Amino acid sequence: MAELLINSQNFKYNLNLITQHLDCQDNLALVLKDNAYGHGLREIAGLARESGIESVFVKNEAEALQIKNHFKHITAFYGEISPQSPSNIYQCIQSLQTLQEISPLRPFELEVNCGMNRNGIPIHSLSNAFEIIAKRGLKLIGVFTHNGFGDEGGEGFLLQEGNAKKIKDEVISLCTHHNLPFPRFHSLNTSGVLRGNGVREIVRVGIGAYGYACDSLNLPSLKPIASLWADKICSHSLKKGEKIGYGGIYEMPYDGIVSSYDLGYGDGLFRIDEKTQGKLLCSSGEQILPRMSMDCFSALSDKEKICVFSDAREWAKFFDTIPYEILTKLSPFIKRKVI
Ligand SMILES: *Cc1c(COP(=O)(O)O)cnc(C)c1O
Repeated sequence: MAELLINSQNFKYNLNLITQHLDCQDNLALVLKDNAYGHGLREIAGLARESGIESVFVKNEAEALQIKNHFKHITAFYGEISPQSPSNIYQCIQSLQTLQEISPLRPFELEVNCGMNRNGIPIHSLSNAFEIIAKRGLKLIGVFTHNGFGDEGGEGFLLQEGNAKKIKDEVISLCTHHNLPFPRFHSLNTSGVLRGNGVREIVRVGIGAYGYACDSLNLPSLKPIASLWADKICSHSLKKGEKIGYGGIYEMPYDGIVSSYDLGYGDGLFRIDEKTQGKLLCSSGEQILPRMSMDCFSALSDKEKICVFSDAREWAKFFDTIPYEILTKLSPFIKRKVI
């Protein structure tokens, strides 16, 4: 059966490399959203816990519940958290409206817009927000922003860093004013952290832990942790010119063996458009023959196992996208195995 192998050594190597940018190891929080970027939520949560990680971020309550016993702090970026869920699961609040509605029993983190104009309340609503928090007796755990310019760096990045600092200062003075305990702060993702030195707040690291960073950060390289393997289903001995697959799109270039392998676009692999995209090779060198099926593809090989990719950048480049998209699309039904 096809499987995604997770290299635990590479994972630890990546965490170490990222930690070198922090003033203290405890500031490393991991983003495990979207099935740990397709790597397998439970498997990566297990490794994160072994590495001493205490704070993680997931997509929603369903993901949080799967790992509820593993971490001290679990923040769900999106959606509500139901009253019966344990109190180490935090909701994220992105509007004053939700702040009015959240149960005073549910701990939460407040997102503030620092310039990306995506999620979060505007900076000028902070005093309003703290009025509500104080009046309703809400459980504020953290305040965060998202610097959306980590990949590009430059002025945009610095401007948002400046805004994050302003937000932090204002929150501290509002807490003092309302006699509330100080929340935790966080603003940086992988590329933001890798631009910094001795970062002194919690950081939300996703893609870097899985072994990737944007190209513009010319840094000692991280190591991809996942390799995707397909198993042979069956083989055929064919003569030159015989046709393979739907519509007989592909013709045998010589007398030889073709085999089918157990991964397809239904498993989250991108489907190659043979007319415009050309040849896509597996890591182990075989061409993925057009047309890919829902649950299998063919290759001119009789190997028992094929390594489809060991570095998602190969596929990202071919399909003109980013490793994030190649990885998060991997079906949760593919078996994950930590090695
Ligand atoms: C996904 C996400 C991150 C992690 O970003 P990476 O680039 O993968 O490190 C951090 N913060 C928020 C709010 C996110 O949605």
